[in-house]
Amino acid sequence: MLNMSRRDFVVSTGLAAALGLNARLAVSPAFAQKTADPVKPFVTYKVGSAEVTAIYDGIWEKAHDPAFISNASVDDVKAAMVKAGLPPDFVSIPFTVIVVKNGGKTIMCDSGTGGQVQPTAGKLAANMKAAGIDPAKIDTILVSHCHPDHIFGLMEKESNKQVYPNAELVISDVEYKFWTDPAVIDRLPEARKGLARRIQATFPTWKNMRQVAGEAEVAPGIRFVVSPGHTPGHRAFHLASGSSQLMISNDTAYVPALVVAHPEWRGAYDQDGAMAEASRRKLLDQVIADKTMICGYHFPFPGAGMIQKDGAGYALTSMKT
Ligand SMILES: [Zn+2]
Repeated sequence: MLNMSRRDFVVSTGLAAALGLNARLAVSPAFAQKTADPVKPFVTYKVGSAEVTAIYDGIWEKAHDPAFISNASVDDVKAAMVKAGLPPDFVSIPFTVIVVKNGGKTIMCDSGTGGQVQPTAGKLAANMKAAGIDPAKIDTILVSHCHPDHIFGLMEKESNKQVYPNAELVISDVEYKFWTDPAVIDRLPEARKGLARRIQATFPTWKNMRQVAGEAEVAPGIRFVVSPGHTPGHRAFHLASGSSQLMISNDTAYVPALVVAHPEWRGAYDQDGAMAEASRRKLLDQVIADKTMICGYHFPFPGAGMIQKDGAGYALTSMKT
């Protein structure tokens, strides 16, 4: 099968080398980045009359961990990365934020890592500027779910001060209630308690946050798609303009090399593995049936493509945009 992601990877690293760019960061070797950043860190394309810009925030080159996928071995994970044209020595988890201009509004889908998740990410602000998007003019930010890589971009590092105080922040009512319930802290695993505390110290004090039930239209041409499991109130976003559509998966299907190719794989970050798998299969079947383009927060940059059935799983063909 034509594998565009491999070609993109080779082209971008090759170009970086040709231009004499050193993609490795000047930080300790433990954090040295092996993947070259995209030569052009933003890509704009049209969905009907809507303008979509994919903006690169960075990458997490996640060390292999036998607990990452509970029903696959590290060797299985390595083989899946190679099959997708990616290096086997770590799991490539890029972060890509989508900005949609439609109906006179500028809508951002999630907020990036805010430079607070991985030392190799946090480039959203610089790359947004390069794309000519003024953060002060973002009208709406849609929150897919409350994991750090999706919401820490909303808040400054030490002060928790809002980064986008003038934007309306839209979140599913289920997700909001789950994380802001004081009793949830006792129920969460140790590694998630700090996250819940930070959410409880911020979200309830923010006056620009709107909770939305079900699959309501949340911005011009965009509606929430109920896709729980990764977190209890996880939402994908569906953009429609004329006869064109884009399914913004976010973490319904996160790393395509793993959970698109193997939808049955149970990731450690899926809070409810069975429910996450059901949501994932439903979303992937839907974009196949509707012949809809899909993009995802952790897809290989710029992230848009088409899904096909591939044996027992699915395959993403990344599109040139
Ligand atoms: Zn994520």
